Amino acid sequence: MNDNLAIKINKLFKTYDTTEALKGIDLGIKKGEFYGLLGPNGAGKSTTINSITSLVKPSNGHIQIFGKDIENDFRFARSKIGIAHQEVSTDWFFPLEQLLYFQAGFYGVTRSNAQKRIEYLLKKLGLSKHRSKKMRELSGGMKRRLQIAKALVHDPEIIILDEPTAGVDVELRHDLWLYLQELHQEGKTILLTTHYIDEAELLCERVGIIDKGKLIVEDSVPNLKKLVNNSSIEIQLQKNIDDMSFLKKYKFNVNKNIVHIFTESPNLELPSIILKFSEQNIKIEDIHIPKTSLEDVFLDLTGRKIND
Ligand code: ADP
Repeated sequence: MNDNLAIKINKLFKTYDTTEALKGIDLGIKKGEFYGLLGPNGAGKSTTINSITSLVKPSNGHIQIFGKDIENDFRFARSKIGIAHQEVSTDWFFPLEQLLYFQAGFYGVTRSNAQKRIEYLLKKLGLSKHRSKKMRELSGGMKRRLQIAKALVHDPEIIILDEPTAGVDVELRHDLWLYLQELHQEGKTILLTTHYIDEAELLCERVGIIDKGKLIVEDSVPNLKKLVNNSSIEIQLQKNIDDMSFLKKYKFNVNKNIVHIFTESPNLELPSIILKFSEQNIKIEDIHIPKTSLEDVFLDLTGRKIND
């Protein structure tokens, strides 16, 4: 089982002064898996991934990369992982392209390999025409792309991204999503942190929901959604109706001309529900089946919303 794991985290604890940031995280990410760590600000996402790359020293616990301990085999771990941090580094004085060569040198990539790789990444991430710009001349979105290019310069097997699309515009978000999906297709193991529900739902094969330093649940997105049973049908009527006793078979509530009918299988039940209204000669204005999202799962488990 362990042979299959790219990242294995065992009982990870971290306390900063008095803040218990991590309270025993256990996590196993399979080779080639696209895994998302989803949780609100302050949940412990950055602390977890910074522990994987030894940027944070855990108070307790163990981390393995492809079965090797990150402390005992520091060089091995470093060579396998590329990380794009949330915060942009402060290399203000060098052109973007030069920063990528420095990064390649740091990982021991030969000059000719680095050149090919850097050309590829500049093109892939839409940075070619900005190659001579210095950090202060780059927009927020370009800085984010540079972070990702730096993470990928040594072509790592494991890619870790801390909030890759936080604060970037919609177009760049979609470009980055496409590129991450491409990297996943190539067989890379990807771990990203996010507080965006749509990002986790769209990209990740498995999502771990983290809150207050604990991993509270992890599974595939469809399985996580099955944890909450709040399926319903929302029916808007043309006018208020007093007597709804014909719906007595269902659990429902009425608010003015809107009826909420709770059922485990809204799509299957919908035709017979519509029939019941038409038998009563009640005109329907609109029908809506709300989709369950990971926000509902988080709300159900914690009583709070992720982005409150
Ligand atoms: P997330 O990435 O989910 O937003 P973090 O891992 O950054 O969460 O933070 C987890 C908790 O640890 C928060 O309460 C945060 O304030 C605290 N924390 C993070 N880094 C430090 C630090 N360097 N010093 C003190 N407290 C920290």
